[in-house]
This record gives sequence, C-alpha cells and structure tokens, in this order.
Amino acid sequence: MAEIETCTSCARRFELVEVGGGMTSKEPEEMKCPYCGHVRMRLASGRLRTLPLPDHSGLQAPASD
Ligand SMILES: [Zn+2]
Repeated sequence: MAEIETCTSCARRFELVEVGGGMTSKEPEEMKCPYCGHVRMRLASGRLRTLPLPDHSGLQAPASD
C-alpha cells in the first residue's frame, strides 16, 4: 500500500510505505523526506518508510493535479 507524497519543503515526490501495521488505532508517525530530510507527522497504523522515486523524466506524462 504505497502512496506518493510530495514534500512540503523541497516539493519533490517520494514513495510512502506503511510497514508493520495491524494496530487498530492510528498514531502520528514521522514521515521523512528522503531528499532533504524534512520531517512531517502523519497518522498511520504502522511505521512509515519513505523511498525516493526513480527519476522518471521522459518516461511519464507530466503530473497534473
Ligand atoms: Zn524534501
């Protein structure tokens, strides 16, 4: 259950993976940008791992939100 998050500091996107879930309640967990180290808190039922996204320039259409 990976998600794509955008860092609020450097505006780069990274993959967010929740690991070791299973708890019924969500608690604030650190979500650290793999590029600049900026940390945000986010509610999660497990630990949060962040992974840099592969550089996909030229492989995908520009993201449009
Ligand atoms: Zn960042």
